Amino acid sequence: MSSDPTAAPAPASADESPRDPSIEPDTKDWTWVLERPCPDCGFDAGQVSRDGVGDRLLANASAWRGVLEDPDAAVRPAPHIWSPVEYACHVRDVHRVFGERLRMMLAVDYPLFENWDQDVAAVEGAYGDQRAASVADDLVSAAEAVAATYVSVEGPQWDRQGRRSNGSEFTIETIARYHLHDIEHHLHDVS
Ligand SMILES: [Zn+2]
Repeated sequence: MSSDPTAAPAPASADESPRDPSIEPDTKDWTWVLERPCPDCGFDAGQVSRDGVGDRLLANASAWRGVLEDPDAAVRPAPHIWSPVEYACHVRDVHRVFGERLRMMLAVDYPLFENWDQDVAAVEGAYGDQRAASVADDLVSAAEAVAATYVSVEGPQWDRQGRRSNGSEFTIETIARYHLHDIEHHLHDVS
């Protein structure tokens, strides 16, 4: 299933937000990927260098373009698993959400991030109805934009902090690794 890149684990309260009943909401907290390698995709945050983040984001975006050229990219492999197109919409939006968080961390001291519910975003954004070619273009554009922001980060800026509403704290360096894991994990999901 999809990983939760940004939000606190979803509260159990019944809200009015639209959800896809066939997709199990991702309520896991994935911050452990900063501490140990991911057994699913093999990502090892300890091996990620600051200066390599931009290039890895761009390489990942390029790989997604290839995935989205598959004529079956819009087909779910099982009813409860996103299609590659749906995953790619999520990755595109992850780049946008992390780009916004990154800009906040650079501009403001210790910002509090807005919650982002990826499962609501999937329904409201009609991920399943999107055209693969358009998604590929938008995913690459979003990756290029956020990669450029990471490349612009210098020296002590890597230690600037931000936080989620559940109390998880990030520096720009750790959010870069967390972000990179999310998109690489999803590429692994569809490969
Ligand atoms: Zn992983």
